[in-house]
Amino acid sequence: MNNHSEQANKDHKKNLIAITSFDSLGLSEPLLKAIKYHGYTKPSAIQEKAIPLVMSGNDVMAAAQTGTGKTASFALPILELLSKKERLFNRQARVLILTPTRELASQILASLETYGKYVSIRTAVVFGGVNINPQKNKLKNGVDILVATPGRLLDLYRQKAIKFNDLDTFVLDEADRMLDMGFIHDIRKIISFLPKNRQTLLFSATFSNDIRKLAKTMIKNPTEVSVTPRNTAAATITQAIYNVKKSQKSAFLSHLVKQHAWEQVLVFTKTKHGANRLTDYLKQAGLKSMAIHGNKSQSARTKALADFKQNKIRILIATDIASRGLDIDQLPHVVNYDLPYVAEDYVHRIGRTGRAGACGEAISLVSADESTLLTAIQRLIKQDITVKTCKNFKFENDTTHYNHKRKFFRKKHNKKISNNTRYTK
Ligand code: ADP
Ligand code: MG
Repeated sequence: MNNHSEQANKDHKKNLIAITSFDSLGLSEPLLKAIKYHGYTKPSAIQEKAIPLVMSGNDVMAAAQTGTGKTASFALPILELLSKKERLFNRQARVLILTPTRELASQILASLETYGKYVSIRTAVVFGGVNINPQKNKLKNGVDILVATPGRLLDLYRQKAIKFNDLDTFVLDEADRMLDMGFIHDIRKIISFLPKNRQTLLFSATFSNDIRKLAKTMIKNPTEVSVTPRNTAAATITQAIYNVKKSQKSAFLSHLVKQHAWEQVLVFTKTKHGANRLTDYLKQAGLKSMAIHGNKSQSARTKALADFKQNKIRILIATDIASRGLDIDQLPHVVNYDLPYVAEDYVHRIGRTGRAGACGEAISLVSADESTLLTAIQRLIKQDITVKTCKNFKFENDTTHYNHKRKFFRKKHNKKISNNTRYTK
């Protein structure tokens, strides 16, 4: 193991293993019981730091790498605080949690239900792509915690289906992703509707300069907590590269899955079109596959994810929309069919495996024209990824010329993405 990965390993362990137990964080019995029931024995490092701060009413900015338990860091203290408060009615919400994608919103709701199993809390989730009326009905009598994506929340607010006069806490989850997806204007607008006197919590995988700039406009004197060295992948993830010609990637992927009898693989492609084409290919090769991306209806996306989680399909093919936040228990294999344009996305993609200290394998299929992207990724993670080869697959020579003219390092979007394309990244 080289120095970098040794350090990463130490850091990762530090991030996952905390000295304190949940009992000493000031959480009450019903929450402790739910956590125990769910199998958590110790808080993660970010939970150990953030929970007491949130519980005592501080504004908090927290950064920790993906998969380190940020959700519980805000969900648990929020549930605790709520259990001592009076209910609100008439379209009011006590807590608003804003998150970039529909999948993440559903996942946060599920976590709230898990952690809040033994307390009586009214939760609701709202996102676009589905009928707005049931959401309006759900909000009519008020909710304790509302989880929302920005666009739909704005629609509901404009239609007077939700009010924030008595809001206590505002959480911005996956703040870095929000900015990447161009939600900055929506976020600003939403903040302008919230009471000034509130608790604000910001969670992010990293603190970029943009995040700090945004934070300044919405938080007064936040306490910063951070447990992650920037842009490191969990040390429990084994990373490898195969050099494969573009035209052979599908055949090689199907070969890998069959040869190693992989049962659950998450594959990332760069484009929606690429995801569809690969899905068709793998299906024809006899491998149960489904694609998840922004052109799919919400019900198709939900179904694909559910089927994948229940092992009804073997391969889930996703664009980067699924690379952050998706939490699939025990996901052993992630494949980068294409390398991502933005090097940070590599870290997020492979972070879908090796969650909560479990082992995982991340494999990238790299064609000659992707060498610049690979260099950028290796520089970012400060690590050379092992190159592997496979004896019983006939690799053809990759003679693709590097396209130096192509602009590989697109700048992140600062502009708002139109409604139609918002979820299609
Ligand atoms: P993040 O938001 O930091 O990416 P999540 O909140 O989605 O991470 O949590 C990642 C995974 O870790 C989830 O499966 C969650 O159930 C699990 N987890 C969270 N906290 C703990 C803990 N204290 N002990 C064990 N597993 C945990
Ligand atoms: Mg998260």
